[in-house]
Amino acid sequence: MSEATQPTRPVAPSEQSDPGAVSGREHTDAPTLVILGASGDLTSRLLLPGLGTLMAHEPDRRINLVGADRKEWGDEAWRERVLEAMCRGGARPEVAAGLARDARYQQLDVMDPEAWPAFVRSLAPDSVLYFALPPAVTMAACRLLTRADLPAGLRLGLEKPFGNDLASAQEFNRLLADLVTEEQVFRVDHFLGKSTVLNILGVRFANRLFEPVWSAADIERVDIVFDESLALEGRAGYYDKAGALIDMIQSHLLLVMAMLAMEEPNRIDHVELRDLMMHVLRATHCHPDHPSHRARYTAGQVGGKDVPSYADEPGVDPARETDTLAEVTLEIRSRRWAGVPFRLRSGKGLGDARRLAILYFRPVAHLPEGFTGEVNQNVLLFDLGEGSLGLRIATNGEGDKLSLEETVFDAQIGDSPVRPYGEILSGILDGNPLLSVRGDIAEECWRIVAPIIDAWRAGEVPLDDYPAGTMGPLTWGVV
Ligand code: NDP
Repeated sequence: MSEATQPTRPVAPSEQSDPGAVSGREHTDAPTLVILGASGDLTSRLLLPGLGTLMAHEPDRRINLVGADRKEWGDEAWRERVLEAMCRGGARPEVAAGLARDARYQQLDVMDPEAWPAFVRSLAPDSVLYFALPPAVTMAACRLLTRADLPAGLRLGLEKPFGNDLASAQEFNRLLADLVTEEQVFRVDHFLGKSTVLNILGVRFANRLFEPVWSAADIERVDIVFDESLALEGRAGYYDKAGALIDMIQSHLLLVMAMLAMEEPNRIDHVELRDLMMHVLRATHCHPDHPSHRARYTAGQVGGKDVPSYADEPGVDPARETDTLAEVTLEIRSRRWAGVPFRLRSGKGLGDARRLAILYFRPVAHLPEGFTGEVNQNVLLFDLGEGSLGLRIATNGEGDKLSLEETVFDAQIGDSPVRPYGEILSGILDGNPLLSVRGDIAEECWRIVAPIIDAWRAGEVPLDDYPAGTMGPLTWGVV
């Protein structure tokens, strides 16, 4: 019998084949988190450190942690990785050591149909299968799971991308619906775990000040910007097939937009919140007055370091014309928002890393005569990177009291000690899908960008360029 076909139950300490192994303990009253793709980049760079921040915040939380991968690792190699990454995430050494000591590793080729039934049979009822696997492998593994008898309480954690177009997202959702209920599916978009993004809800709905002016009557336009100074950084394998529009706008930025634009929830729970996000997205279309833009960086310098032209990066196929910077303008056809342009922009290799949601207010209906000076429009700015909130208003200036000037209130908003992946994992472990992307939302995001992708593929929108380290093509205007 090969390694992969052996029963795959997370092995209890008493069954350890290595008698010298540090003895572990299975917490029968705790959920089991199985990370498929345990040796991968996501696991060591984001998932385990995120779990570390969660455990730093909740040291008494109990989890049975199982790593599974096709690599020939044993418990010890996995435990070392868990310990190192959890400490990197800020978990107290004794907490990280406790979790690592009880962690198990299981060699498993998820593409092997023989391997799954025994593995699934071994799962405790309260288990999470987290697919930290390449997307095509995840989909194939889910197909194999349809043949298995899954535990009733099994939750599935799924990484983005959810399909690569509307049809494939629909197909993936149908497949998942054959496995478990929608409440057991956790499509991960770590933006929803960012405290800086969730802050939008607090600012909007817990203040008397903002909601009355939160509509087209008072807001002229909205920008959501996620500019990265990082260039490709060796990720051609994934990025060259995706590009900025799909990597960032199709998922993350549309969800931020939905939070900014949604109607007021009666309560913050997964039903209300996701219904209202879907309500916004269903009304969202390309803005007829604002064409989309795409561009690709050429050679330049970022932060004093030379960056080669994207087309010359290893692993890139220049003929694909992958966008490293994308800008789309959308309208939300609703009574609240009709006519307001929502500009979403994201890219790589840019001169300045900016993560902003900016609301520009209309000018006052009448400015009393007698004031002098220039009055800029009011602006409310969420800095989603720094976690700050800025408000620009006009005030009477010093000296000549009728001369107006601009005053900016800028405040740091309390950041959560739990990193986004910690928040996401907490939701999955607790069975609360509040911060996960519902299936219809994942599909709707593809529906919104489909006409843009079609127009780009048909060559209807030129591929502009910009030297790395600049703010993008000058012709696009300033954001
Ligand atoms: P990696 O390629 O680094 O890791 C994937 C892991 O899955 C590897 O350890 C790989 O093993 C393992 N694997 C592949 N095939 C099998 C198989 N048949 N059976 C068991 N294990 C297998 O990818 P990432 O960690 O970067 O990405 C994982 C997912 O997370 C992707 O969906 C990605 O889109 C998503 N994601 C990643 C982010 C990141 O920053 N890395 C950020 C956001 C999302 P082997 O090495 O042997 O191939």
